[in-house]
Amino acid sequence: MTDWTRKGALEMADAMAAGEVTSVELTQACLDRIAAVEANVHAFLLVDAEGALATAAAVDADRAAGKDLPRLAGVPIAIKDVLVTKGMETTAGSKILSGWIPPYDATVTAKIREARMPILGKTNMDEFAMGSSTEHSGYGPTHNPWDLDRIPGGSGGGSAAALAAWEAPLAIGSDTGGSIRQPASVTGTVGVKPTYGGVSRYGAIALASSLDQLGPCARSVEDAAALHQVMGGHDPMDATSLDEPLPDFVAAAQEGRANGLKGLKVAVIKELGGEGYQAGVKQRFEESLDLLRGLGAEITEVSCPSFEYALAAYYLILPSEASSNLAKFDSVRFGLRVDEGGTTIERVMAATRAEGFGDEVKRRIMLGTYALSAGYYDAYYGSAQKVRTLIQRDFAAAFEQADVLVSPTTPTTPFKLGEQLDDPLAMYLNDVATIPANLAGIPGMSLPSGLAPEDNLPVGFQILAPAREDARLYRVGAALEAALTAQWGGSLMAQAPELEVAR
Ligand code: GLN
Repeated sequence: MTDWTRKGALEMADAMAAGEVTSVELTQACLDRIAAVEANVHAFLLVDAEGALATAAAVDADRAAGKDLPRLAGVPIAIKDVLVTKGMETTAGSKILSGWIPPYDATVTAKIREARMPILGKTNMDEFAMGSSTEHSGYGPTHNPWDLDRIPGGSGGGSAAALAAWEAPLAIGSDTGGSIRQPASVTGTVGVKPTYGGVSRYGAIALASSLDQLGPCARSVEDAAALHQVMGGHDPMDATSLDEPLPDFVAAAQEGRANGLKGLKVAVIKELGGEGYQAGVKQRFEESLDLLRGLGAEITEVSCPSFEYALAAYYLILPSEASSNLAKFDSVRFGLRVDEGGTTIERVMAATRAEGFGDEVKRRIMLGTYALSAGYYDAYYGSAQKVRTLIQRDFAAAFEQADVLVSPTTPTTPFKLGEQLDDPLAMYLNDVATIPANLAGIPGMSLPSGLAPEDNLPVGFQILAPAREDARLYRVGAALEAALTAQWGGSLMAQAPELEVAR
């Protein structure tokens, strides 16, 4: 019997079109898998079996009636809880939003519904997307399906773990400094941060508005491309949305896989990969470079000297924007209200924010409020913005010399739960290679490049392209993925250990 949960999204779509399976069967298979492994993985904050099956049944009925359906109609999906979903509790991983039922859909949620994709539920995340391990969730951590004692990355650990645990073929993430790419890297999955403005942010609970992007998470490059196609495009509800036609990402992936990468110029970013990078991470990275060479690419090296300051600039810009974005959680408009005999509104607000926000959120609100305060604004926020410009210039110069830039996605394979929880600076360093792309607004992809020999855990390979050239990521990513899977004799995910299943 076919275990449909092991299939990719496009394979599922083709099987439905060929009459081999129904959406109700696929959705039920995912729901059964969720029921079997969630006690160990905890990828989801909410599972909507009824809603997902209703969408699936409607798709099956329309298909039986011979109606035209979108490409991914009937393919189930998991949505990070940062995205507002009408009628479905949305918390962004925070206690302060517990019980909040949004009265509207985010643009991307609406697009998923228009694409007729059953929504399995909302995935776990670090509170307000602050973190690299999902341990900062107000609702308990998610576990990495490769080793349940390890972190699934963050902030989108729930979305990545749902893919790696075969609970969902597709998921949505958000990436402000790496929260799609880093979880993809440590779970052996694919994650893409689109060009800033390429996917609407309307209805995505804001962390840092100038850095946030929603993007696709999948188990293959082509599946990610298909989901990006659904999510992307201009939206008048988002003032930063790019007003231009969406390229054909799936075609780009197919082109790369079919024709290789002859003449493509690839540059390794010198600053991302030396000291502090695990030996096995570097080894797999080098091997992937060899494969790219074999596909016809030319490999060079570029230096981006300002990247040294990227992390510092990010941890001023992000908290500054976050402290402002989170001011709206005031006990009045959304979710939680802690009313301790509540004499004044100030006391109710203070008590609510004290109880509703976790430590990391409070740390960043304090940092941001300080950085933005009169007298310090120029010294901190102003300087950080100047560094941001320098980073953009480094990228511009690098892309004069190469079509894509590459690096390991993260310095290490997934670490143990609890290992970095009391060390915020160590936690921040996980994103050292992913943050520059957000500061410059350019697109980036992480795809698996193998298991580190020393611990048998997934290693991610990062590809970066110039703004608006997201299609290039899919072309290069699909070509490299094809070479890697030929070597492995199948997808990396097939090497993941079997999870214990509840009966
Ligand atoms: N880990 C980074 C942070 O904590 C990235 C977060 C994100 O991309 N949402 O800010």
